[in-house]
Amino acid sequence: MKITGELCCGDEGMLIDPYYSPENSIYLGVDFGWKNNAILWLQPSADHEKLQVLYVHYQAFRTNEENAKIALKIHQARGYGQLSGGAGDPSKPEALRSYSQVFGVEIVGQSGRVDAGHELVKQWLKAATLTKGESGLTFAKVGKCACGEYCYRRFLGEFNLYREHVPGTGPHHGLDGLRYFLTWWVGLNEVRRFLHSI
Ligand SMILES: [Zn+2]
Repeated sequence: MKITGELCCGDEGMLIDPYYSPENSIYLGVDFGWKNNAILWLQPSADHEKLQVLYVHYQAFRTNEENAKIALKIHQARGYGQLSGGAGDPSKPEALRSYSQVFGVEIVGQSGRVDAGHELVKQWLKAATLTKGESGLTFAKVGKCACGEYCYRRFLGEFNLYREHVPGTGPHHGLDGLRYFLTWWVGLNEVRRFLHSI
């Protein structure tokens, strides 16, 4: 497998994210905003025991439709297959519609209490710590983003502040994208069973 930058050259000569498993579903978690739009690419393992943050992109000063189109370009450039779905801010139906149209699959508005969502993220982080990354929330290693900024590093920075994080304060847009996704995804029955077993 030939490495080109951080992307690998796959079977048919297509560039592909080495952390991505083409046989597994891939999802988006999105926090919308004119100034702080955060898009996360997330991939659960087949047994739903692990959730990997594959890639993150922040964007400012663009409309939802523009952001969604940029996200699709990044998606394709990284060799990701058809999106299986995703979740975002439930208070922004127009934004949800833009992403759903551009990606050709429904991006769901996920409601729920902020602190409950954050508790879920913490639970998944804890699972990763307890199992040394065999289950729970894991992170890919990503350098510079396709946009030229260090978006993934910015996201990890949000995470480093996470233990003192008060919902709605400090840098939190990437975390919100993750929270929307996780809350939606664990609401699916098969994932709920896993959580009860931690
Ligand atoms: Zn970026």
